[in-house]
Amino acid sequence: MTRFSPFHASLWSATAAPPPVTRPLEGEIRADVCVVGGGYTGLTTALELARAGVRVVLLEREEIGFGGSGRNAGHCTPTFTHYSLAELRRMLGEPWAERLIHRQTRANDRAARMIRDYRIDCEWVQHGYVMGALRPGQRAALEEKAESYNAAGARTRLLDRDEAQAVTGSPRFFGGWLHEEAAHLNPLGYARGLARAVLQEGGTIHTGSAVIGCERQGNGWRVKTAAGKVMADKVIFATGAYTVGGWPQLDRSFRIQRVFVAATEPLDPETRASVMPRNTTLHDGRGDIFVCKFDAAGRIVASMFPMGRRGRDLDYTRQVLTDRLRWLYPQITRPVRWEYLWFGELDMQSRTVPRLYGLAPGVVALTGLSGRGVPTGTMLGGILSDWALGVEEQDLDLRVEPLRPAPLWMAAAPALKLRQMRLADNLATRRDRAPLPPHA
Ligand SMILES: Cc1cc2nc3c(=O)[nH]c(=O)nc-3n(C[C@H](O)[C@H](O)[C@H](O)COP(=O)(O)OP(=O)(O)OC[C@H]3O[C@@H](n4cnc5c(N)ncnc54)[C@H](O)[C@@H]3O)c2cc1C
Repeated sequence: MTRFSPFHASLWSATAAPPPVTRPLEGEIRADVCVVGGGYTGLTTALELARAGVRVVLLEREEIGFGGSGRNAGHCTPTFTHYSLAELRRMLGEPWAERLIHRQTRANDRAARMIRDYRIDCEWVQHGYVMGALRPGQRAALEEKAESYNAAGARTRLLDRDEAQAVTGSPRFFGGWLHEEAAHLNPLGYARGLARAVLQEGGTIHTGSAVIGCERQGNGWRVKTAAGKVMADKVIFATGAYTVGGWPQLDRSFRIQRVFVAATEPLDPETRASVMPRNTTLHDGRGDIFVCKFDAAGRIVASMFPMGRRGRDLDYTRQVLTDRLRWLYPQITRPVRWEYLWFGELDMQSRTVPRLYGLAPGVVALTGLSGRGVPTGTMLGGILSDWALGVEEQDLDLRVEPLRPAPLWMAAAPALKLRQMRLADNLATRRDRAPLPPHA
């Protein structure tokens, strides 16, 4: 029995390029570094290490991309969610904030390079991301984003009302923020392509190989699965929201927030040409988000968080998605049919930036990505491989902390925060005398 949503319900399971052939671990093998978890964080770490000539073995409990990496919505926007850069600097302090901002804002260069170098077949489209303003008063916040991200070296700009309409294809926005470097992709295709790259660089991957224990053995570690062992000098847990066992209490370091994604059938070419005409990603700018993009076949892929009936009652959920989409895009006049609807889990913690835990000498874990993990998981491979290659803790781009359980209040916090953001957006929208989206 698994506590996770079904994996094969997603669009990506139906459309991603196939995975490389991998098998469960049997018997005992030796490695310099054992990476646990076959999502972006684990895969990009293993890839960096294999390229550096390190003997690396990656163990995945299910299949490559089984966690968030194979079921996300496919937006690759190299920014931070929830926090402005100023808030992040206050929260993390220096030099940590500047280092992380540097990594995150350049994460898409890294993803693009890997996709190009290893010819990863994953529908990568780097045409930008627009966060729209559904009320005039929102433009000030977008200006602040443009200024702070541009000062950090990103390529972004503000859109006025006409440009916002031209770029998004929607008449609803009073303006927008365009992040030119943002991209979107087939997330499972990306994860599988990274796995192929790890193998190509001489790394080893075993799927169907759940880590059930990790014990000290001389100067190194014995990482156990049901049918085998990896003897390694260093161990990295990159098991995210899908952590099951492996290391005591690791699954308590975050709380789960569910999110759902749905995909329409392909739009007819005429409608498609008028909706997100530049094939960007669109964020409607509300805290209770509606985010969408196209897949390669011309399906709209949209995501939202469950709230009340939304996410629980599937017919109602599809209706909400349709009403939101039609409200943003009145030019969609034909019936909207959602071909796929699937759920996934996020590893939320009180600071919505990843946390690097020192578990024991030679063992670390990284969890708590709290969403936006496509660029984040991709850049984290650089930090974790630095650790494995012996970079001193004070020179890493994330601070190593002791493992702590997420506070109990975190169990309810994401849902409450979502409701609070919805209320604040609704009040501000009414104050600005702008129209509210349906089901807001
Ligand atoms: C529905 C959904 C939509 C999302 N949309 C977006 C989006 O559009 N853009 C974006 O940037 N981010 C998005 N995210 C977030 C993003 O997908 C994740 O943050 C990211 O994929 C996490 O990567 P990871 O490698 O850290 O973890 P995962 O991809 O979750 O990988 C962890 C892996 O560890 C394995 N594992 C667990 N325990 C063990 C064990 N004991 N032994 C061996 N293996 C183990 C799991 O099976 C899993 O495959 C979304 C997430 C979800 C769920």
